[in-house]
Amino acid sequence: MSKKLGCYICSGCDVGQAVDTAKLAKLAERDLRVPVCRVHPFLCGPEGLALIRNDIEAGGVNAVVVAACSPRVKTEAFQFDPKMVLARVNLREHVAWCQEAGHEDTQMLAADYLRMGVVKAQKAEPLEPVSEPVSKQILVVGGGAAGLTAALEAAEAGYEVTLVESKAQLGGFAAGLKRSFSGTSLQPLIEAVSYHPRIQVLTSAWIERTEGQPGAFEVTVQADGTTTRFHAGAVVIATGWKPYDASRLGHLGYGTTPDVITGVELEHMAANGGIRRPSDGKPAKDVVFVQCAGSRDPDHLSYCSSVCCLATLKQAGYIHEQDPEARVYVVYKDMRTPGHYERYYRQAQDHPFNFLTKGEVTGVQRSGDKLVVAAKNTLLGEDIELRADLVVLATGMIPNSADGEAIRALEDAEIRAEKGESAAQRAEAARKAEELKAHRGTEILNLTYRQGPDLPVLRHGFPDSHFICFPYETRRTAIYAAGALRAPMDAAQAQQDALGAALKAIQSVELAARGQAVHPRAGDMSFPSFFLQRCTQCKRCTEECPFGALDEDEKGTPKPNPYRCRRCAICLGSCPERIISFKNYSVDMIASMIKAIEVPEEDEEKPRVLVFMCENDAYPALDIAGLKRLRYDPSVRVLPLRCLGSLNIVWIADALSRGIDGIMLIGCKLGDDYQCHFVRGSELAQRRLENVKETLQRLRLESERLQLTQFAINEADKLPALFNDFMERIREMGPNPYKGF
Ligand code: SF4
Ligand code: SF4
Repeated sequence: MSKKLGCYICSGCDVGQAVDTAKLAKLAERDLRVPVCRVHPFLCGPEGLALIRNDIEAGGVNAVVVAACSPRVKTEAFQFDPKMVLARVNLREHVAWCQEAGHEDTQMLAADYLRMGVVKAQKAEPLEPVSEPVSKQILVVGGGAAGLTAALEAAEAGYEVTLVESKAQLGGFAAGLKRSFSGTSLQPLIEAVSYHPRIQVLTSAWIERTEGQPGAFEVTVQADGTTTRFHAGAVVIATGWKPYDASRLGHLGYGTTPDVITGVELEHMAANGGIRRPSDGKPAKDVVFVQCAGSRDPDHLSYCSSVCCLATLKQAGYIHEQDPEARVYVVYKDMRTPGHYERYYRQAQDHPFNFLTKGEVTGVQRSGDKLVVAAKNTLLGEDIELRADLVVLATGMIPNSADGEAIRALEDAEIRAEKGESAAQRAEAARKAEELKAHRGTEILNLTYRQGPDLPVLRHGFPDSHFICFPYETRRTAIYAAGALRAPMDAAQAQQDALGAALKAIQSVELAARGQAVHPRAGDMSFPSFFLQRCTQCKRCTEECPFGALDEDEKGTPKPNPYRCRRCAICLGSCPERIISFKNYSVDMIASMIKAIEVPEEDEEKPRVLVFMCENDAYPALDIAGLKRLRYDPSVRVLPLRCLGSLNIVWIADALSRGIDGIMLIGCKLGDDYQCHFVRGSELAQRRLENVKETLQRLRLESERLQLTQFAINEADKLPALFNDFMERIREMGPNPYKGF
């Protein structure tokens, strides 16, 4: 079907005051040859929308350019048919609200954006959803508080569930407790899951293989000597936690005397016959709890496990239940008992035989029949020594996604990286850390992905994908983490967490059934296509795909698994042959949009800077800048990218050869603490940019004409200065010498 473009320009929301919309319409009609072009003062109102719909229904228009507000707003109003080509041109936030009304430069900016939008619509193809039959069954791995809750909630919502638990009994860690401080009892939950008609429970089971892709995972489970195979659409992984390895805490006496134990060991004692000194079985009259044992310590676990303080206060209660006159000492860095748990803390504090002090334990020594715990920086203002029968180390939580050895190796590498003196040392340590991240788990799911059988994890082993914007998501599409595997938490919080993960799993099977992407491009129906006749098997795409969507055949040719794909287009950016494209996002489309920018002659003294901007954070930040009416240099032309990692370096060459004077790349901040929405997009862009900079130097073109900036969504106020400073430097450098060639 041939494309019939309609261009609709809104003159409301100050656009009509800022630019001459009649001139823009003329540009679309005469120069860009758009057959239908209309200007309306209130395009998103009923009359404006009817104008567009009538043209579509009359058959005169099958591809729409809406030149109005940001594409991030009024998405439902301007969604006529999800399969139809739609290009939004941001004349409001990026022109009218940030530039001087009626100025020639403002008009030029709007005209460039309109040209780019029309080209985008011309180059895009209508989407055809890929719809293959999908399984909506949900696999839940782990039968503790989180896993049980996820299974029950998904089943109650009408989905078939298979729950796989490695132990013989359901209940997880909480089942071994004497009691929980939150008062949670899992027994009713265990019964509800065990007898639910839509839940199949496999205990003493492990997953041999998880093959395939979302909507069509093929899972092979070994349980009690039998093999079970089934299909699953999505996975909730809730394999919980294990205590930090106390054998690394020799400085706190662990391993040197049996009377230094961990909180978990004390819990087992309390649940199985009572608390005694392991060395001689005598009652423990004086017990010292050492908080943050290895936690919040850069040499061990640098994070807080959030539950140890409450577990200690609970266990102090066990000691007094057994012997009301036993003395309990708690030495803490900070006592963390949030919310209502503060009352729990106060209750423990009021107990006449509980002694709580802030302090730092410096050593634990045996002295005759007793242990001596030395502490400094206490609330008493002096160093103290506490004599104890039993010392209990409140150790932290490690996610059950990776073995302790691997986590230690990773942390060591990262600490070295942080302390490294030279860039080379840091790079080497970072490389090793990356290698470990790629494969260091206990292989719970045994994924048959090219990039390894494990879920990739962040520092400390948590398998998060983006904890700020998309909790529960891992870097494997449709596999969601819940409970203490995702972040340290207690059983009650893990149950809450499981609700979220179960909903995500349901959402992902429903989206897969419609051929649509999950977060962050939820609903996107485009898929990458590969013109494999020209593939050189360089493997860049398969290596750089952050979600393991691309497997390889034996020669190294990519084998896409479309439902694993999150449509980030990083593969498109990686491919030196430029053979990866989407119907609505391609190398050719972006290159054509760049060519659509009018570059004034050198003597006009109107430089042009192209800004490749990440759609996820930087672009909305620029919208916010518009909303705040912040002014910036009108010479910049913003071109949004799905992710900065989708940047194909050919676009840089295209732009510079067009005479563009400078190029900015603005993407998410690097690293685990901020997180790119597509994991490493900014990092990949930076790497690609380094190569381009070398080429520029060879061409004797200043490498300063390219700038990559890491940006957070809450930094909108900084954008004008960022643009203006770069423009000033470009003006100082003078025009691009390739202008006019
Ligand atoms: S679009 Fe992104 S997720 Fe999909 S195959 Fe390419 S790199 Fe992988
Ligand atoms: S990056 Fe391009 S050329 Fe290289 S393997 Fe992938 S598709 Fe083939």
